[in-house]
Amino acid sequence: MLGCVIHGQGDLRVAELPVPEPGPGQALIAVRYGGVCGSDLHYWRHGGVGDFRLREPMVLGHEVVGTVVTYGPGGAGPAPGTAVAVHPATPCGVCPECGAGRRNVCRDTRYLGSAARFPHVQGGFADRVVVPSGQVRALPDGLGLRRAALAEPLAVALHAVRRAGEVAGRHVLVTGAGPIGCLVVAAAKAAGAAQVTVSDLLPEALEYARIAGAGTVVRADDPDDRGWPGEVDVAVEASGVAAGLDTCLRRVRRGGVVVQLGMLPAGHSPFAGNLVVSREIELRGAFRFDGEFDDALTLLAGVPAFDGLISAVVPVGEVESAFALAADRSRSCKVLLDFAPSS
Ligand SMILES: [Zn+2]
Ligand SMILES: [Zn+2]
Repeated sequence: MLGCVIHGQGDLRVAELPVPEPGPGQALIAVRYGGVCGSDLHYWRHGGVGDFRLREPMVLGHEVVGTVVTYGPGGAGPAPGTAVAVHPATPCGVCPECGAGRRNVCRDTRYLGSAARFPHVQGGFADRVVVPSGQVRALPDGLGLRRAALAEPLAVALHAVRRAGEVAGRHVLVTGAGPIGCLVVAAAKAAGAAQVTVSDLLPEALEYARIAGAGTVVRADDPDDRGWPGEVDVAVEASGVAAGLDTCLRRVRRGGVVVQLGMLPAGHSPFAGNLVVSREIELRGAFRFDGEFDDALTLLAGVPAFDGLISAVVPVGEVESAFALAADRSRSCKVLLDFAPSS
C-alpha cells in the first residue's frame, strides 16, 4: 500500500509500506480522504511543529476518514464497510489530567501522525491504517466521507470556543483565516455568537472566512481598516504568530477572554503581556479536543456550507503538489488527499 512519509524538512515521500494487521482491540480502516493540516505542513516545511521535532521517518496525517475493513481479536465497532471517521487521540486514561477529565492534555497520549512522543505515532496518510477500535466513529445520517474529513479540525475549533466560556450573544474576534480560523468562526456561530470578526493578511483567506459565517473581515496589516471592532468580548488566536496574539490582547475588552489556539513558533514569543495584567485579560490555551469530535460530526451533518471550505481534493500520488497548494493560502483553504484506488 502507499503512504506519505516525512523523513525530514522538505523530504516528503510517497512510499510502498506493508499493510498493517489489526492487533487485539484494533480496527483496520481503508482510508478514503485525509485532510492536510497546518501541522502536517509544519513537519514538511520545518521538520517539526511547535516544540515537537521529527526524529525518525513518520507517516503524516491525523484527519482521516474511510471505511472499516476488519477488526483484530476483541475489536468491535461499526460493521465492515461502514463509512467512519477516526478520532486521532488515544489518551492514557491513568494520568492526573485524564483523571480530571482533561484527556486532550493527557501527558502520555498517542496522537496519529505526531512527533510529540518518541517513537513517533505513525499517521493515517496511507491506504490502510490501524487504530484502537474505540476511536472509530460511524458517520451520522446525511454526512458523506468528504465533508466528514473536516471533523478533526472542526473539533479543534469547537474545543477552542468551549475554552472561551460563554460566547452566546457576544462579539468574537478570530485572528487568522486559515482552515482552523474559518472553522472557529463556524463553531462560534454555532455557539450563538452575535458577531464574528476575522482578521488576516490575505483577502483570499478572508473570503473563506465569509463562507464560514464571518460577519466582518479585516485586513490584519491595515490598522485603518474600518472593519476593526472597538473592542470584543472574546478573541481566538488562530494564526499561530505572536502578532496575532498581540492583536487579540489589544482588541479584547477589559476582563475579556483570549484563547491561544494557533501553535506559536518554537521557543519564546513576544507579545504585549502587560495588557494581561492591566486589563485583567484571561489568556487561555486550547489544545486539540476530546468529546468535541462527536459534536463536530453532528454539526457537519447538518450544515452543507462546510463543503465550501474544502478547496481541493488531490490524488495521493500528487502529495507534494497537494502540500504546496495547502501551504499557499491565496489558493486554498482545506485540501484533502484522496486515497481512492482509482486515483
Ligand atoms: Zn489537524
Ligand atoms: Zn492521560
